Amino acid sequence: MNADVLILGAGPTGCALGSYLAKRGASVTLIEAVEFPEGVVGESMLPCSAGVFEELDFDTSGFMVKHGAVFCDQGQSVRFDFSEAEEPRWTSAWQVQREVFDIRWRQTAQRHGCRIVYAKALDVELPGVVVTDQGKLRGDWVVDSAGRTMWLSAKLGLRVGDARLRNSAIGTRCVGVKQVAPDQVGDITICCIPGGWIWIIPFGGGMASVGVVMSPACPLRGSAEERFAAAIAASPDAQRRLSDANRIFPFRGLQDFTATSTAFHGPGFALCGDAATFIDPVFSSGVLLGLHGARQLAAAMDGGDMDAWTQEYREGAGVFRRVIDCWYNGDFMTVALAPRELQKPYFRKGIVSLLAGDVYNPERTAPRRMSMRMPEIAAAVRQYKSNQLSAAPAEHA
Ligand SMILES: Cc1cc2nc3c(=O)[nH]c(=O)nc-3n(C[C@H](O)[C@H](O)[C@H](O)COP(=O)(O)OP(=O)(O)OC[C@H]3O[C@@H](n4cnc5c(N)ncnc54)[C@H](O)[C@@H]3O)c2cc1C
Repeated sequence: MNADVLILGAGPTGCALGSYLAKRGASVTLIEAVEFPEGVVGESMLPCSAGVFEELDFDTSGFMVKHGAVFCDQGQSVRFDFSEAEEPRWTSAWQVQREVFDIRWRQTAQRHGCRIVYAKALDVELPGVVVTDQGKLRGDWVVDSAGRTMWLSAKLGLRVGDARLRNSAIGTRCVGVKQVAPDQVGDITICCIPGGWIWIIPFGGGMASVGVVMSPACPLRGSAEERFAAAIAASPDAQRRLSDANRIFPFRGLQDFTATSTAFHGPGFALCGDAATFIDPVFSSGVLLGLHGARQLAAAMDGGDMDAWTQEYREGAGVFRRVIDCWYNGDFMTVALAPRELQKPYFRKGIVSLLAGDVYNPERTAPRRMSMRMPEIAAAVRQYKSNQLSAAPAEHA
């Protein structure tokens, strides 16, 4: 591929895109505002990201290995192991401290021949010019992968928020987080609280990323410290894990993060990763979508079909989006915690394949089917439980 490409943002999406493009012969410049990345959200990977890691020879050594996900709701819990997915190719993933992960992505991009310029992108003059605080850069393509601010998308009038997901989050890092059962070490734990949920992402040695996501219905109020403490107190499972924990990072607040763009590309430009579309983080899908989007975008930019890329990218995100609705209306946990006699093999296969991020393989029908059928299955589970309840007095009589 004979082109000069300017990529805004050297996060995982920008670095993966740059690496794939450089491998195809493009001359790639990554423009990055922050020289030393800080620990940020986006720490729990999904197994299907491993394909990109392998193709780009990304170094995962030393990261905590994650074999599954545990969901807890007021003392009830269910664990999904990635080995239960439909024809799993990868049965584990990683929990990553982003300050390390992002540096490794930059090193990966440089190894593949990308140049990194440390400068803050201030404006884009299409076609082909990026204005930074260090001067102007010119290229044949400009790709925005500078994350959730979606500033090129907003500048071009493409950004649309998601009225159904007006959530906020506070996150931090703790030490002294209690271990769980030996077969769950490394798993992400998600604990339900009224109107929200808590994540616990272990890094080993009792250190973990801990955060709270709150929907507008969440009753938590006050300072970050107060809301964090009240959220933990509202979940017996989180309380058990965090009773001796100490916070070692300041709180980081994030708001209204779900949004997409009405177009992902146009003459001489493209949007990828969070800069194109970001959906709620409950299923840890952000990095996977960015990496997969980058992989396919590189092929599309190299003489492929940009519209087909957009459609595929949207479809994968759409599978997660449907199940995220089911998370916030309670259908997901209803299905996940369905009585054993109702559990069908395809329940778990569908859920686990989704949690593994297997949303882009047309041969895997289980996650797509599950995302379509979850409301109907949840209704059947609720009906079964209510029939049991109404039958109970007669049985005891
Ligand atoms: C509460 C919360 C929890 C999350 N948890 C997870 C999780 O567990 N797993 C997961 O996969 N995802 C998670 N995510 C999503 C994840 O953080 C993102 O999807 C992922 O980081 C996107 O990668 P990216 O490369 O597209 O953008 P980013 O990681 O945001 O990288 C963008 C880069 O662009 C740079 N940049 C920004 N502006 C400029 C500028 N003007 N000029 C130059 N450079 C610039 C930034 O410094 C950064 O290096 C979570 C998100 C939220 C909100």
